[in-house]
Parts: sequence; C-alpha cells; structure tokens
Amino acid sequence: MTLDELTNGEPFDAVIIGGGINGCGIAEEAAARGLRVAMCEATDFGFGTTWRSTKLIHGGLRYLEHGDVRLVRESLRERSWLLQTRPYLVTPQRLFLPMLPWTRRPGWQLRIGLAAYDLLALYRGVPKHRALRREKLRELAPYLPGSAGAGSASTTPASTPLNASRSNLRSRLAGSAP
Ligand SMILES: Cc1cc2nc3c(=O)[nH]c(=O)nc-3n(C[C@H](O)[C@H](O)[C@H](O)COP(=O)(O)OP(=O)(O)OC[C@H]3O[C@@H](n4cnc5c(N)ncnc54)[C@H](O)[C@@H]3O)c2cc1C
Repeated sequence: MTLDELTNGEPFDAVIIGGGINGCGIAEEAAARGLRVAMCEATDFGFGTTWRSTKLIHGGLRYLEHGDVRLVRESLRERSWLLQTRPYLVTPQRLFLPMLPWTRRPGWQLRIGLAAYDLLALYRGVPKHRALRREKLRELAPYLPGSAGAGSASTTPASTPLNASRSNLRSRLAGSAP
C-alpha cells in the first residue's frame, strides 16, 4: 500500500505501532475480529527484542518459584493453545536442568517444584518431567561439566521453541488480509 492510499483511503479501525511479536499478535487478533488494521514498523518486522529472544514459549515454570500460580496457569494455557493452533511453529522441546555445584536450589526442592508443575500442566499437551541418573545425563549431554548430575538431575518439557520470524510473518499476513 502506498502512502497516498494510506492517507486518503478507507480509515483504519486500529493502527499498531511496532511489528514485534506483540504487535503482530495484536494485529492478527484484531484482523480476525474483522477490524481494518494498519501496522507501522520503524525497521523490520520481528527485528526488535523479538529477534534477539531465545524464542521459547515457556510454560511459566519460573513463576512457580515466586508462588504465582495464577501466572503459571495462564502461561500453561497460552502454551497449550499455541501447541494446538500453531503446531507448525511451536513444538515441545525437552530441557536439561542439571544439578551443578553452583545450582541455587537443592535437588529435593527442584523435584518438588517440578512435581507441582507437572500437576498444574496436566492435560496441557506436554509430557511430565523425568528424573535422570548421572550416567544417563552424561550420555545425553556429554558437554556438561563432570560434576553435573551429582545428587539429582531432571529434564523438563517446560519450553517450546518458536520460530518468531515465521510467526511474525504469518501474523502480519493474516493481519493484512481483507
Ligand atoms: C535475551 C532475551 C531472551 C528472551 N527470551 C525469551 C523467551 O525465550 N521467551 C519469551 O517468551 N520471551 C523472551 N524474551 C522476551 C521477549 O523477547 C520480549 O518480551 C518480546 O520480544 C517483546 O516483543 P515486543 O513485540 O513487545 O517488542 P519488540 O520485539 O522489541 O518489537 C517492537 C517493535 O517496535 C518497533 N518500533 C519501536 N518504536 C517504533 C516507532 N516509533 N515506530 C514504528 N515502530 C517502532 C521496533 O522496531 C520493533 O520492531 C527474551 C528477551 C531477551 C532480551
């Protein structure tokens, strides 16, 4: 669309400033509800913080540490929705949580936290965490320091990789659809 069409054409219902993951998501939602949406981006879509992020759709495990169960539930619900509606963008990924000499939490605390998280995440589309023996951890992650796994080590499915650029592009295209 040209600048002339933009200024003299049909008015927009919403103008989104910034085409990061949030702007694109908002544009997509607004367009899906039948609004005429314009988006202004200073550099490039998905170029800001979105491009620099780890691109994980985490299920809110870290909020559990602060006792914010409501936020954990919300994160789990959102992740589950993304897993269902965007299976081509978001896939479950296992992470290692190795016990290292400088790990802040003792093993028992980690295990209780993960068990509580598993309960909250029940039926949310990701498998439960698994406890790993030191030997198994070595086999799966030989790059970890030799002290890793002392005491206990676990894996958690708390993360989901997101191809933010594709997500942005997809949202942008959906947002600009008539
Ligand atoms: C190192 C790191 C790792 C992270 N890892 C994760 C993670 O794994 N999972 C997770 O959920 N979150 C993660 N985050 C947080 C996440 O990246 C941000 O919350 C998210 O990207 C913010 O998106 P946004 O759309 O609000 O902002 P941005 O992505 O920064 O988008 C803002 C856009 O607005 C544009 N803009 C600014 N001013 C104007 C203007 N005046 N006119 C037009 N356009 C303008 C910018 O060019 C930019 O493209 C991480 C963040 C960092 C820094």
